[in-house]
Amino acid sequence: MKMIKYCVICGEPFSSGRRNKMTCSPKCSEAHRKTLEKMNREAKRSKRKSGSRTTIAEINEIARNNHMTYGQYVGWLYSKRFIRKSEMEGKH
Ligand SMILES: [Zn+2]
Repeated sequence: MKMIKYCVICGEPFSSGRRNKMTCSPKCSEAHRKTLEKMNREAKRSKRKSGSRTTIAEINEIARNNHMTYGQYVGWLYSKRFIRKSEMEGKH
């Protein structure tokens, strides 16, 4: 079953049978991949800097820098296993 999704790069709607597809075209896919690589580096750097935890403020800042919402960025961190669910629950 196809669903309508919105490209995370250009915001255009597109239909996809694949749930994890986030971009509308190969061009946007490439731009998205570069963004993820950049976020990857930032996530690793902030993790080192703050010890074992990435703070909410840091996540917010990185998300904002990459034009993502906090929720989108946290979802991405989960998918990359940078954070565990337990790290994001409870105390800040
Ligand atoms: Zn696009």
